[in-house]
Amino acid sequence: MAEKVVGILGGGQLGRMLSAAASLLNVKVVILDSGDHAPAKQVVAPTAAHLAHVDGSFADAEKIQELAKKVDVLTMEIEHVDVESLRQIESSTNLEIHPSPSTIHIIQDKYRQKEHLSTHKLPLGDFLGVEPTVASVQSAVDKLGLPLMLKSRTLAYDGRGNFAIRDASQIPEAISTLGERPLYAEKWVPFTKEIAVMVVRSASGEVLSYPVVETVHKENVCHLVFAPLRSRDPTLSDRARKIAEDAVKTFSGAGVFGVEMFLTENNDVYINEIAPRPHNSGHYTIEACETSQYENHLRAILSLPLGSTALKVPSTVMLNLIGHSSSMSEIEKTRDVALAIGGTSVHLYGKAECRKGRKMGHITVVAESDTQLRERLRPLLLSFPDTTQ
Ligand code: ATP
Ligand code: MG
Ligand code: MG
Repeated sequence: MAEKVVGILGGGQLGRMLSAAASLLNVKVVILDSGDHAPAKQVVAPTAAHLAHVDGSFADAEKIQELAKKVDVLTMEIEHVDVESLRQIESSTNLEIHPSPSTIHIIQDKYRQKEHLSTHKLPLGDFLGVEPTVASVQSAVDKLGLPLMLKSRTLAYDGRGNFAIRDASQIPEAISTLGERPLYAEKWVPFTKEIAVMVVRSASGEVLSYPVVETVHKENVCHLVFAPLRSRDPTLSDRARKIAEDAVKTFSGAGVFGVEMFLTENNDVYINEIAPRPHNSGHYTIEACETSQYENHLRAILSLPLGSTALKVPSTVMLNLIGHSSSMSEIEKTRDVALAIGGTSVHLYGKAECRKGRKMGHITVVAESDTQLRERLRPLLLSFPDTTQ
């Protein structure tokens, strides 16, 4: 077993689930996060006790250097990190960084990411760079039509960097809402479903994909993830997996990547965006696959053999527990409902404060059939405000 110590930039729920997987493999983990009780810092691989976590931001060059001094391999649970620091560490030390700083550099700017994917001839909707001026956005509307999705190139998550322009009169509001950030525009994709594929890439470039999942979003936030994807088109799953694998092959460095895609009426698949890390749409792999995305991420970055990505249950769903208010009471109510249902696993992230719209935990349900899955899911949806559908 590798004796390497892993440093993780970011200590939220993804870092927490990576740490939990690390503790099973007895891999030492050190977390960099500004919260001294960040979710990931509450889960400590037992042998890491002598290595104190670092309090600071994953965007702070000095703090990244401090983390780097303690570990052998650096990885991240978020792409909005300071890439310059990673590049310096890459050129001046023997530390392994996964995925590579050049991958993070491409992916963390969504426009640069789209250009990269387009250069590699991967299927994408049309997009254009724009300046944050009415004239420039109007010219994008003229070329790409309405509605138009105006997006922040950087620091986007949970749709908080997107503005759907439905009428040209909204252009000034769209620009002021997205603020001073660099922008680009995407042609509206009239998708019928959103799907995703997690792909794990070894340091030598081998890729393995997980089953295709259907992701259901509510107000831009992932709400439900169903696996496997059900479709009348027998070619769809293999096509989507191939596109996701081909996309991940274009990047360097090891680890898990989340590939978000749109499915159109004609069953065409377009890539929406790629995350260079474990992803919300892969939480289900903990209970439903032979190797979780978190364990496979660790195996990949530590040059251990990758594990099987196969489903080990016929049907599964993941329900995000999104904060309803500053109180955890709604979430606790759903937790109690879940604890009485067979095949459910509750994950609460230990975040210091509950807030409306914040991801506070999730529940995974596994079942012997889609019918049993629906039966098990129904009371959970009914118990949770605003999530009935
Ligand atoms: P994440 O939390 O997944 O990182 P994000 O802030 O990066 O989200 P996107 O994934 O770009 O945002 O978009 C959020 C959602 O907005 C998508 O899941 C999809 O529902 C919708 N969306 C994004 N781009 C388009 C588009 N071009 N056409 C139609 N809908 C879109
Ligand atoms: Mg994103
Ligand atoms: Mg997204």
